Amino acid sequence: AKAYLDAMEKARGLNAYVLETPEEALAMAAASDARLSKGEGGVLEGVPLGIKDLFATEGVRTTACSRIIDNFKPPYESTVTSRLWRDGAVMLGKLNNDEFAMGSSNETSAFGPVVSPWLPPNWDAGQARERLAKARADGATPRGFLVPGGSSGGSAAAVAARLCPGATGTDTGGSIRQPAAFTGIAGIKPTYGRCSRWGIVAFASSLDQAGPFAATVRDCAVLLKSMAGHDPKDTTSMDLPVPDYEAAIGRSVKGMVIGIPREYRVDGMAEEIGALWQKGIDWLRDAGATIREINLPHTKYALPAYYIVAPAEASSNLARYDGVRYGERVGGRDIVEMYEKTRAAGFGSEVKRRILIGTYVLSAGYYDAYYVRAQKIRTLIKRDFEEAYASGVDAILTPATPSAAFGIGEKAGADPVEMYLNDVFTVTVNMAGLPGIAVPAGLSSEGLPLGLQLIGRAFDEETLFTLGHAVE
Ligand code: GLN
Repeated sequence: AKAYLDAMEKARGLNAYVLETPEEALAMAAASDARLSKGEGGVLEGVPLGIKDLFATEGVRTTACSRIIDNFKPPYESTVTSRLWRDGAVMLGKLNNDEFAMGSSNETSAFGPVVSPWLPPNWDAGQARERLAKARADGATPRGFLVPGGSSGGSAAAVAARLCPGATGTDTGGSIRQPAAFTGIAGIKPTYGRCSRWGIVAFASSLDQAGPFAATVRDCAVLLKSMAGHDPKDTTSMDLPVPDYEAAIGRSVKGMVIGIPREYRVDGMAEEIGALWQKGIDWLRDAGATIREINLPHTKYALPAYYIVAPAEASSNLARYDGVRYGERVGGRDIVEMYEKTRAAGFGSEVKRRILIGTYVLSAGYYDAYYVRAQKIRTLIKRDFEEAYASGVDAILTPATPSAAFGIGEKAGADPVEMYLNDVFTVTVNMAGLPGIAVPAGLSSEGLPLGLQLIGRAFDEETLFTLGHAVE
């Protein structure tokens, strides 16, 4: 824990942590030492972790990286984090993310952008360090540096920079898999219902899932085993046994059938992403898997439908931030003016955009045309996957992202759809409620990490760990 706290101090320029908790870390580590010296201890005894600031941590500031809940100290602990502590893990601090997990680059955080530890091509490390220190000292945006992806950008940057050996994330449309791919690490979004959502700040409740980030697929397997499982406090969490995921590492992939969906060869996909995909196909074929081309015909509707369903649920979930129950209140002449001023000051522009879209698609007159239609599309997407699995496919291999990481400031601001397009390969999985893992699979011609995604059957994360380990 001490070594990681030191590393965190040296790497503050990355802005991966929004809160460091050295006192908690050292106390928890000492308690771990005491248990270990008595021959006791859980599977994560003494393992230091970073926690996305979307997870409620008892007595420790939790903000969702929004101004509107900027000084909330929850009187309770999220189920997922309490299970990690139960197994002996040690909390290093809270990690940066896009505000309310809305974003793909960690640029919407009220705490400012996270910098990826990967440098742009041909940058000198020493000069980069100075440049970053100067930008941070001036309070300026560190332009030119790369984004770590989002929304769990702090989690991905922290693991990639070895500021923690593992971290929690949440994934509503790709927020674990896309940042994992951008930073060259592994991350899994489990099946919807595998992890409890209790105590996690809600974005889009029918899509949100928690999951781990780590340098390797094996470490993700160990972390997920601890995080997962039924919780009576979340009625959507499933009462199913949690398998020993680590036992799936190293199993043979011989005879497994891997689906390659034609529809994922989208326009605008970088050439080297196509080449990486082919490499992944070759690796699995060489390892004894059978490769089969499949169709997922409704794929092209997934992104537009996601950007109706997710904002609709967000607009409803975010109604609770009204200046009465949480956060900073800005006063007004009457209660309506107080709501307006509080929400105008407390939410950032991407969050406001989502609330407006969500309110619009849910309003009388538009509800059937947009929201109901998007829900129907969602069913069709789910059926596409079900048909593929019913035909004998064990898992589906796709790229995790359509490109490598881009620069800070490069896609933010201009056209929001530019940013949303990052999620084309990941949102389908949330719409269908399936598990998906991103594994580091190589470097681009410019030396930046690229990731592959494996999509599994519902509640079959084990196959993803077996295949992910074979590919990484
Ligand atoms: N980038 C997507 C969005 O902005 C997904 C975010 C997430 O998974 N939390 O909605």
